[in-house]
Amino acid sequence: MIGIPYLYFDHAATTKVCPPAVEAAIEAMTTTYGNPSSLHHMGLEAENTVSHARRQMAKALGCTPDEVIFTSCATESNNIAIFGAAKTYRRRGNRIVTTTVEHPAVARPVEQLEQQGWEVVRISPKNGRITPEQVAEQVDRNTVLVSCMHVNNETGLILPVEEIARQVKRKNPDVLFHVDAVQSFCKLPFQVKKFPVDLLSISGHKIYAPKGVGALYKKKGIRLAPLLLGGGQEQGLRSGTESVPLIAALGAAAEFVSGRREAFYAHYQDLNKRLRQLLAQIPDVTVNSPAEGAPYTLNFSIKGIRSEIMLHFLEQRGISVSSGSACSKGAKSGVLAQLGCTPAQVDTAIRVSFGYENSLDDLELLAEAIGEGTRTLLKQRP
Ligand code: PLP
Repeated sequence: MIGIPYLYFDHAATTKVCPPAVEAAIEAMTTTYGNPSSLHHMGLEAENTVSHARRQMAKALGCTPDEVIFTSCATESNNIAIFGAAKTYRRRGNRIVTTTVEHPAVARPVEQLEQQGWEVVRISPKNGRITPEQVAEQVDRNTVLVSCMHVNNETGLILPVEEIARQVKRKNPDVLFHVDAVQSFCKLPFQVKKFPVDLLSISGHKIYAPKGVGALYKKKGIRLAPLLLGGGQEQGLRSGTESVPLIAALGAAAEFVSGRREAFYAHYQDLNKRLRQLLAQIPDVTVNSPAEGAPYTLNFSIKGIRSEIMLHFLEQRGISVSSGSACSKGAKSGVLAQLGCTPAQVDTAIRVSFGYENSLDDLELLAEAIGEGTRTLLKQRP
């Protein structure tokens, strides 16, 4: 790849660790490297590092530090929230309401509960949207949990979780409301105290922290049965010695990104607008993302060129994009079909997801490469 500028457009999959997170991790690995449970000075220093990160997370979320539980990733946060709620509040009822556009980290745990006898209602988008009314309609006295993502990882579709939460709670105040906020935390403006959310999952590596760390916001008073039993760390909800370097990095990244949220958002809007203009000049490109979606994710299909073929073509030019969801390793996306894409659009879908280091100039190179790829690859078709 020497001599080719490397352009990374896959920030919904993962991000490069930002400088403050790197520094925080190094400090925790080399200076405050004690075990936070140890009673000596080094243990206390490590505990202070974790507490500092917890305060940084609480500030970014708009909650109190004791409402932040550190985990190893958002998949773990989702599993703790869903299985924990189901086990603890089983006596309240038997129904879970979710959507058909969830990430597997929510869809799979819910599926398993269904196999264990829970009644699961999955709401499909209507005309490309999921409305608060659609969700609230499915909530009854028997409903224990509603789990709903905030921003869809494949298309940038925004689900109106704040209004969904309000309507759900109006229908049944005892329902637990869980949000998978992996693709919105530090990117969209939300504060957990401004809407009735009980549980909310976060991933470190989507916000410029390293892989291997996540968090769960758990509203005060909510009890959850843990998945792991052991030393009782993280209020007994996530036993295991805390990964102090990763936690420190997560706190630093959250502070870094949330402090620049508005500027980054404006930048993503510019990038999104420009890429839409450039794609409009390439024949047979259909944009699959909604116009009012999150600006940092743009999904589109190129007629006649399968995603992996275009992906490979761009890769040879030093450009990384994604086909469908990163977690699905190129597997066909059910979410795009749910959002109204035809099978041909699903087969040819490309996801571009921006990071703060992407520039408008980068987009010219990306669009040029897509245009060239379209011309070349269409000619090569049998
Ligand atoms: N939820 C959503 C919406 C995601 O996009 C992802 C990862 O792509 C996850 C959950 C899983 O996050 P993690 O990699 O931290 O387990």
